[in-house]
Amino acid sequence: MDILESPLALRHWVDARHHQSRRVALVPTMGYLHIGHVKLVEHARQLADEVVATIFVNPTQFGPTEDLSRYPRDLEGDLAKLRVAGVNAVFTPRTEDMYPEGFATYVVPERLGDHLCGKSRPGHFRGVCTVVHMLLRMSRVDVAVFGEKDYQQLQIIRRMARDLWLDAQVVGVPIVRAPDGLAMSSRNAYLSADERKDALALSAALAAVRAAYNGGERHAAALRAAAEKVLKGVASARVDYVSLVDTQELQPVETLTGPTLCALAVFIGKTRLIDNCVLGGTR
Ligand code: AMP
Repeated sequence: MDILESPLALRHWVDARHHQSRRVALVPTMGYLHIGHVKLVEHARQLADEVVATIFVNPTQFGPTEDLSRYPRDLEGDLAKLRVAGVNAVFTPRTEDMYPEGFATYVVPERLGDHLCGKSRPGHFRGVCTVVHMLLRMSRVDVAVFGEKDYQQLQIIRRMARDLWLDAQVVGVPIVRAPDGLAMSSRNAYLSADERKDALALSAALAAVRAAYNGGERHAAALRAAAEKVLKGVASARVDYVSLVDTQELQPVETLTGPTLCALAVFIGKTRLIDNCVLGGTR
């Protein structure tokens, strides 16, 4: 497994594969890897001949009061996991490689970032789009793989790739969960043992929404109430949002008539976790 530390090293590595007519997939991550990330790599390996993973905690997607400085890191552990997963190269740039002195250009998504995490984390998707745009342009990979756990992020990146004529195909991978239902996340490492139990409220809330939907409920307010009832029963849980939006434009719906994303963000203690499911059709 090659370690690539600079953007030009990444570009040359991918160029060399392309000269051999090999298809390359990119798996961007912020490190502190878990089984969810490994599944992305496995998926990427089916889509391409070679896989590059990136580990970069992107400062521009964190708000001033968020967890950038204490975001969990374990480079050695991550490299070991990626090696086992069969990754061919890992890109581990320094912040100053990605944002050199004088950096002044950002990619700003419209509309799709107005609700859900975009509303409670102003500037977050500007940071995400900017770094993903950079990664796709500097690498010129054929395909890039993202998790459906960050559904809004995936949809915004898909749209960016289409709107800005990026060459990479953007592919989503279903949410990977622990056996008890908790969506895997690097931020789960922040949870105490009690909070880890309370965090099951997120997947339980989504199950309640799905049950109501399967029982014929189509009013977003009632579906939201089903989730909030579950979340209110957990003392350490504080709801950031429970939202029902259409799966393409990510705009709020009042009555469900087509595929609808139910997305939620909940603080368990100080840790903000997200989860989602799609009601009525495929993603
Ligand atoms: P992160 O390191 O948290 O920025 O995540 C890197 C990539 O892994 C993103 O595309 C995430 O959507 C994806 N990812 C993180 N957790 C999961 C999960 N539980 N299931 C599927 N994909 C995930």
